[in-house]
Amino acid sequence: MNRREILDWLKTEDADRLEELWKTADTVRRENVGNAVHLRGLVEISNICARDCGYCGIRAGNASVSRYRMTADEILDCARLAAGFGYGTLVLQAGEDHGIASAWLCGIIGSIKDETGLAITLSLGERDDADLVAWYRAGADRYLLRFETSNRELYERIHPPLPGRDSDRFQILGKLREIGYEVGSGIMVGIPGQTYDDLANDVMMFREHDIDMIGIGPYIPHPGTPLGREGDRHKAPDGEQVPADELTTCKVVALTRIQCPLINIPSTTALATINRAGGREHGLSRGANICMPNLTPRKYRELYEIYPSKASCGENADESNTRIKNQILALGRTIGT
Ligand code: SAH
Repeated sequence: MNRREILDWLKTEDADRLEELWKTADTVRRENVGNAVHLRGLVEISNICARDCGYCGIRAGNASVSRYRMTADEILDCARLAAGFGYGTLVLQAGEDHGIASAWLCGIIGSIKDETGLAITLSLGERDDADLVAWYRAGADRYLLRFETSNRELYERIHPPLPGRDSDRFQILGKLREIGYEVGSGIMVGIPGQTYDDLANDVMMFREHDIDMIGIGPYIPHPGTPLGREGDRHKAPDGEQVPADELTTCKVVALTRIQCPLINIPSTTALATINRAGGREHGLSRGANICMPNLTPRKYRELYEIYPSKASCGENADESNTRIKNQILALGRTIGT
């Protein structure tokens, strides 16, 4: 598919044509990555963050957030749960918390590997090369870092760098690959100021960069953030602004599957949040092959509020596990082993 065709699909509202897109994406998914949905347990290990991203509820400047960092024992307990539920991977995610010391996390990675053999994915923001190397050597397998949008100007507006530092996520993704990590990235759909042209470029970018997993979620305004409060002021002109809705997110999922047949695509929590009744299922039947059930202890879940009303809040790990597995089986898909 060329860029013009992608742009055309992103703008189409014709329901019959869209059925065709969903069907093609689902067929490409089945033929290339099969019927299994792989489960990756998500543990939100800290909501402490040094950054001030305009979109994110746990940004440093949001003084109303109670901050936490899980203990090593709490994280290990989550790893045991993941192994018990039969998941293949544990994802450790956090704000950009520089109090997550290199050696401390190396110890935790080593213990998880020794005890459970789970694959480990890290999603800890923009860390120094030395930390990234140390964690890889300790046994981490993958790193997730969304580039959020390929429009550099928009990116810089919503994602200010730390003083005196550059924030080039494409460069960091290259570095991660060089170290040996499998690399995940992705975007938000419907950021105020994001145009259809930008979104078509994002989809092209997924193919150009050698990425193993692409997460695609709708942007969800958070009232504790500048973008959440003043988003309307930043919108692109009518007809150019991408809507932050389920339909557009699903189009990007489907187009990404068609462009990158072998890639891993999660059906994201943000998609399940904007349509609780069927968002996760729509993602899975329009190209996605991964789910990330939340394993974070109940008492921390609502504190990791990157956007409001996250679909996983109000549940414990057992409930998230059961609900997601039932949703997958009801679609006639199998659980990856
Ligand atoms: N600190 C890490 C993890 C951030 S949370 C990092 O920066 O990589 C993971 C993802 O959640 C982000 O990359 C972003 O795409 C998404 N996210 C954050 N705030 C959001 C919001 N308001 N709406 C939708 N997605 C959001």
